[in-house]
Amino acid sequence: MTNDALRDLSQTLKARAMAWWQAVEDAFPGGRGRRSLWSALITLVIAVLITLVWLAGRYEASQLQAELERDTADAVSDLRTQLSRHVQALQGLQSTLASEAFWSVEAHALLRENRDLLRIEWRDKDLILKNFVDSPLRAPVFERSPRADTLNETLQSCLRARRSSSAAYSSSYFLPQNDGQGFEVMELCLPNMQAGELVGFTVVTYSLQELLNARLGNSFGRRNEVSFTEPDGTRLAIAGSQRRGLRVFTAQQLVDLPGNTLVLRMDGRRSEPDLFPNVLTALVTGMSIALVTVMVLLAKDSRRRLKAERDLAEALAFRKAMEDSLVTGLRARDLEGRITYVNPAFCQMVGLHAEMLIGHNAPMPYWPPEMVDEYQQRQAIRLAGNVPPREGFESVFMRQDGTRFPVLIIEAPLISVQGQQTGWMGAVIDISEQRRIEELSRASQERLQATARLATVGEMASLLSHELNQPLAAIASYANGSLNLLKNPGAEPQTLDDVHMALRRIAEQAERAGRVINSVHDFVRRRDQTREAVPPQALLDAIAPLVNLQARKLQVRVHTRVEPKLSQVVCDRTMVEQVLLNLARNGMQAMDWPDCRERVLVLQARRAASNAEQGWVEFSVTDLGVGVAQDVAQQLFTPFFTTKPEGMGLGLSLCRTVVEQHGGHLEFEALQPKGTVFRFTLPTESCGRTDAVL
Ligand code: ADP
Repeated sequence: MTNDALRDLSQTLKARAMAWWQAVEDAFPGGRGRRSLWSALITLVIAVLITLVWLAGRYEASQLQAELERDTADAVSDLRTQLSRHVQALQGLQSTLASEAFWSVEAHALLRENRDLLRIEWRDKDLILKNFVDSPLRAPVFERSPRADTLNETLQSCLRARRSSSAAYSSSYFLPQNDGQGFEVMELCLPNMQAGELVGFTVVTYSLQELLNARLGNSFGRRNEVSFTEPDGTRLAIAGSQRRGLRVFTAQQLVDLPGNTLVLRMDGRRSEPDLFPNVLTALVTGMSIALVTVMVLLAKDSRRRLKAERDLAEALAFRKAMEDSLVTGLRARDLEGRITYVNPAFCQMVGLHAEMLIGHNAPMPYWPPEMVDEYQQRQAIRLAGNVPPREGFESVFMRQDGTRFPVLIIEAPLISVQGQQTGWMGAVIDISEQRRIEELSRASQERLQATARLATVGEMASLLSHELNQPLAAIASYANGSLNLLKNPGAEPQTLDDVHMALRRIAEQAERAGRVINSVHDFVRRRDQTREAVPPQALLDAIAPLVNLQARKLQVRVHTRVEPKLSQVVCDRTMVEQVLLNLARNGMQAMDWPDCRERVLVLQARRAASNAEQGWVEFSVTDLGVGVAQDVAQQLFTPFFTTKPEGMGLGLSLCRTVVEQHGGHLEFEALQPKGTVFRFTLPTESCGRTDAVL
């Protein structure tokens, strides 16, 4: 791999690393520890990738180098073989020394066959030239520089050949030519031994250039530049050529010849192992890119996950804070009615821990024992799929210490993300404080009404006493006077006249007292003018809020039943409402005993049953209370009769007055096993009896 390629690669990787770092910065904005872990991982991965790519390049280069080394060794071996063949051929030539002519022919043939042989000389044992033949393939090479000038090298090699009795090579030397050029030549001196005695030498001049061209040029010269060099690197002969722009691998081997050592150098032309030199490197690079891509994708994914986690944690924290700070109790139930979730407000409300509630089924620990049946029915209705009223319903729960408290429950189906109902979700509001305030205002209103009633009664009493005082005083004094007159036995007729007169006065005063009474009656009768036609349902509806208020307090269930298609009743609406209210209140108070388990009050309106009151409407108020005792029953309608510590005893007598003013009648009946029903009738528009009132 060249330096340029390495630089490019490192720059590319650096740029990628920067991009990576940015991605990591984005992915882990807060986590310093995690960031350093990621950067360590990235550095490691990059280091591994660079090492892999470099190793792949190196491996390829070493393969090429090894191949070239092999080629060079082969070339040296080829060269040696060729040279030893020459020696054999020359030995063959020496055997033909008998005939000079024949020698020349043979040498000539040898020169023609081998372009690298320039000249063959036959010298005697004193190195005197006896015969020679120049290569027919080119001009004689010793024309420019005389042979004698170059004999020194020949002499050296022949001395060596004689010593070793075998072929010896001279050092190479430059042989200038006529055309101004020249080439490097080398001599071979082969001693001619006949019967163990030296008889002469055969000297052969080699052209190193031709030696390369002829012996190695075809086989190795195509892809390589083959050359003989000096040990210092100077080229003596070159074969083959190099293409530019390709990477060159070099291998050198010594061609160790007797008397001379040549250096064979081979410069291999190979395409440069760049970033994608071969399949291995391409594979490694491809895998690296895939790895980096996967890491980028992983980092992106992890960033997305981190963000989702953060959002989720925030949403959860917000939800938790919201649930914890709610004062409304939250309760979730599954479709079997088991509690699946309660918030802290709910736990605080009922005084139980969440663990004691979750998984609990009916009867719940916060249900008052006396309400268990009713609540179980209610739960069964709910679980059957009946949706509770949107505005919620009221109920009573029990704290752990046994105290009861009223709650408002708003319940709705719990719908999952898939749109399926998985249970019920309820919001529970403790309304005991609200009830307490309502009760306070109701009690104060009642007290106010009682005070007002008392005031009216007092006012009326004082008015009556004031108005009746005079006639009664007059009646008393006339009566006393008359008695005094009658005490006198011998009374004169004058006296009898006086008694007459006094009795007349008494009658006058009694009449006057009667008028006073009538005027009070008139005052009461004046209310006739306010009569109107009212649907019975409207009368019951009007008192419902007040009745319900007290019913909740006393834990009484109120049922209202109105017969369909009832005619409107003609009445003083306010007074009749007061009657209904009084009866309802008495009924509820009659059920306010600890051992009274079933507390039901029924307000009913229907057509009167008796023939005498055809077309009238009968109202009834039924309770399941203590009932009316025998002694109480006799005085029930007596004004100021009461059995209650705070009672006034005016309610029922007033009710009867009002009902009778409308022409109806009020009665009561004991129920078995317990309870009382009060009934009264009112005229309707159709019965036309309104005029008959009073
Ligand atoms: P008060 O309610 O102020 O006592 P009332 O005239 O309304 O005055 O009632 C008189 C008495 O009649 C009550 O004190 C109670 O003893 C008795 N009474 C009224 N209604 C009922 C009832 N539904 N059941 C039993 N007793 C009743």
